[in-house]
Amino acid sequence: MFKLNDRVAIVTGSGSKKGIGRTIALALADQGATVVVADLNLEGIEDTVNAITEAGGRALGVELNVTNKESVDAMVEKVLAEFGRIDILVNNAGISQKVTVQDMTLEDMTRVFNVNMFGLFLCTQAVLETMKKQKFGRIISLSSVSAKRGGGVFGGAHYSASKAAVLGFSKNLAREVAVDGITVNCVAPGLVNTEIWKSLPEADARNVIASIPMGRPGEVKEIASTIAFLASEEASYITGEEIDINGGSHMD
Ligand code: NAD
Repeated sequence: MFKLNDRVAIVTGSGSKKGIGRTIALALADQGATVVVADLNLEGIEDTVNAITEAGGRALGVELNVTNKESVDAMVEKVLAEFGRIDILVNNAGISQKVTVQDMTLEDMTRVFNVNMFGLFLCTQAVLETMKKQKFGRIISLSSVSAKRGGGVFGGAHYSASKAAVLGFSKNLAREVAVDGITVNCVAPGLVNTEIWKSLPEADARNVIASIPMGRPGEVKEIASTIAFLASEEASYITGEEIDINGGSHMD
């Protein structure tokens, strides 16, 4: 596919066994990148690192809480001490919650924004200086179809709002750092075949499928391959873009 040899990539939230982050980490490693597997979940980190090394790739596991600046800075320091560069940041860590606005508390709203937007800000800011010095960087963030069409899959309005914030933030940053050789893009997946999908009641799952022209959820590999492309040299003139990956369930 796309060659990422000599690239160092950080993938946040890549310790989730059945999640998108692990497959992104595996896809980047498969293309030759050294991958930093960063997550809150220590057991999950170990599993992803093992999966990468068993497949012949290079990986470093780092415990990370994206909401905590000290934790983010410590991760970046560790990666720089180990590898001396950071080429790719995939902001994948994210949380959701099924709740109506009527029942939502300010604490719910704050918790979701803390991870999905403010954590993404902390991780992104922490790698900028290095990427600017290198005159090369790829920042790719996970938004969601929910940001663009107002939910309809699982999360509440706080989730949709946080993922919409990710789009605006990324476009603004793309303008700021284009001159430094750094591209900033988002992917907006629709429903993906992960634990969330499997947890939906049958009737809800049927309704969701009926709204997808392709008649099926996306596969994690279909998200990861788009991210591997955006991370590559070949995507050098794409910035401030959002790529929908949703089987046609939302078309701009
Ligand atoms: P997941 O819950 O399987 O994995 C998320 C990972 O993030 C977990 O390993 C978790 O430990 C980690 N995480 C959570 N909070 C963290 C924190 N504070 N610091 C560090 N790590 C933290 O989720 P997923 O379904 O794989 O989703 C991955 C991303 O894709 C999310 O941003 C999600 O919003 C987005 N997305 C998912 C879908 C879907 O259908 N699954 C659709 C659209 C967008």
